[in-house]
Amino acid sequence: MRKYSRFGLYLLDMDGTIYFENSLIPGAYEFINKLKEENIPYVFISNNSSVSKSTYLEKLANLGIPCSEDNLFSSAMAMGLYLKENYLDKKVFVVGTKLFKDELLNYGINLVDDESADILVVGYDRELTYEKLEVACRLLDGDVIFLATNPDLVYPLKNKRYLPDCGSICNMLTVATGKSPKYIGKPNPFMIDYLKKKFGVRNEDVVVVGDRLYTDIQLAINANVNSILVLTGEATKEMLEESKVKPNYVVDSIKDLI
Ligand SMILES: [Mg+2]
Repeated sequence: MRKYSRFGLYLLDMDGTIYFENSLIPGAYEFINKLKEENIPYVFISNNSSVSKSTYLEKLANLGIPCSEDNLFSSAMAMGLYLKENYLDKKVFVVGTKLFKDELLNYGINLVDDESADILVVGYDRELTYEKLEVACRLLDGDVIFLATNPDLVYPLKNKRYLPDCGSICNMLTVATGKSPKYIGKPNPFMIDYLKKKFGVRNEDVVVVGDRLYTDIQLAINANVNSILVLTGEATKEMLEESKVKPNYVVDSIKDLI
């Protein structure tokens, strides 16, 4: 395996990679502090679009992990940037949380709460209602642009429980209307393309570290950068064997990267 210091930008998944709910995964603290000591840039990338930047900054600070706004990129922020770059003049209807809408407002996006929207954006909506779904279906019956933050089907909770994530909400809309969204979060390479420019690094310098094959590792493949799968979260050795999505490296845990 390449020596870790030879990568020039670490893109770190959070849930299942550096922590699980409110507990750090052993070795995560040491690994991230090592990167900081060696001045190797790292960015936490998350597909969770239900919370805001400050939610993450607070959580990471509570866990003792050094992080500023520069080290953070979520699918909510990616959606804000994407809309700003491509559709700043359009009206957007959001199926998402209040915090997600606040994040989009930070990017100057024009949000509306009715059927006058040009764009439908779906996130991981823990405040989902049938009123929102009714507007979404009405919009999808027309020629609205359909975007969504992340294709994750479930959001993991403690004790093997889970909630339907953005991908499941979108699947429901797809079954009802026949329309499918374009996902902006992982594994769309949009997030990596943006970060490569921001940090001025080449593809071979970038590595994604994550626990999910169909988001984290697929992201690295789509963006043509390196990938390391950790086995502390969703993916197991058996899943890896059966999957067509193969990482460059596999480690039991982030601890092995110190
Ligand atoms: Mg994860």
